[in-house]
Amino acid sequence: MSRDFIYSGSPAHIVFGEGKSAAAGEWVEKLGCANALVLSTPQQKADAEALAAQLGSLAVGVFAGAVMHTPVDVTEEAREVVLRTQADCVVSLGGGSTTGLGKAIAYRTDLPQIVIPTTYAGSEVTPILGQTEGGRKTTVRHASILPEVVIYDPALTLGLPVGMSVTSGLNAMAHAVEALYARDRNPISTLMAAEGLRAFKTSLPDIVAMPRAADVRADALYGAWLCGTVLGTVGMALHHKICHTLGGTFDTPHADTHAIMLPHTAAYNAAAVPELLAPVADIFGGSVGGGLWDFARQIGSPLALKDLGLSEADLDRAAEIATENPYWNPRPIDRQSIRALLQDAWEGTRPA
Ligand code: NAD
Repeated sequence: MSRDFIYSGSPAHIVFGEGKSAAAGEWVEKLGCANALVLSTPQQKADAEALAAQLGSLAVGVFAGAVMHTPVDVTEEAREVVLRTQADCVVSLGGGSTTGLGKAIAYRTDLPQIVIPTTYAGSEVTPILGQTEGGRKTTVRHASILPEVVIYDPALTLGLPVGMSVTSGLNAMAHAVEALYARDRNPISTLMAAEGLRAFKTSLPDIVAMPRAADVRADALYGAWLCGTVLGTVGMALHHKICHTLGGTFDTPHADTHAIMLPHTAAYNAAAVPELLAPVADIFGGSVGGGLWDFARQIGSPLALKDLGLSEADLDRAAEIATENPYWNPRPIDRQSIRALLQDAWEGTRPA
């Protein structure tokens, strides 16, 4: 293969293994910190309190107010707690919403972050922050946003409900599929993307069958790290643009939207770059879109946008927004073809 590329490795420390969240205190100290503020959603408050208790005198408190889409007013509230408690680092325990709050604090204060992810969304290994203010979602990319330490502990994911595991896993897989054709891909991102897809191909059906099997959860979390890493290092295209549009404008649930759209966006782009998406066809069998759709159906994923409460009229608006700012995609896009793609995803039909 003869191809030019730029490869930049992530400076983050990745700690992987069952029970490793017990080492969170050691990592607080390694970062030169002594006053950790533990973050979570209200739903995971008890787990965050248990983590704070485990950190002992290294924890200054728990802020359990993280919510989806990182609203700026919640970040401001958390920042006041940071000031009041004189926290010198944050420990984010949870999915992308909690990680988002930690990133938003770090972006404003440069405090170091330790993230202990409990979903497969992948935000913990990206320097990207999406936040909302006045109903508008904006995205920033900055070195201060990338968490310094990530502790992947499969034991903490045993309780992730099967339905959320499925959609979160498909959300992660979408990062890998788009990384395979990214304009700025490199040999390492391609290796990681294919390996991440393989990890989910086996682990997601196994989670459906045995949700509390630690080794299977470890395989999925390994996939989440790989897929998240490529999301953080190469550019995303049509798929992420459409999901951002649907989530931002119609407030559709993040992971479900990704799960439903993936077979359709992958099928659309496979028509232009079949050789780049060949690993997807190899891993999932059949055609790129058909193989992904069959897999999603096999593991019980939602398949139709109409089930998320979208109306057919919303699709016109979504196609308009998703195509109004030109952006790079391996296959040219126009409003008519994106509208047709959205119709298929709305109906939940198998991509041809
Ligand atoms: P989430 O963090 O909103 O979690 C959904 C719900 O599940 C929450 O109530 C949470 O407390 C609960 N939960 C999480 N883990 C659990 C577990 N193990 N057991 C039981 N309950 C658990 O969902 P998400 O899909 O992880 O994150 C979505 C958010 O992350 C969106 O706002 C999205 O934009 C953002 N995101 C950002 C990036 C990035 O790079 N900036 C990447 C991916 C996602």
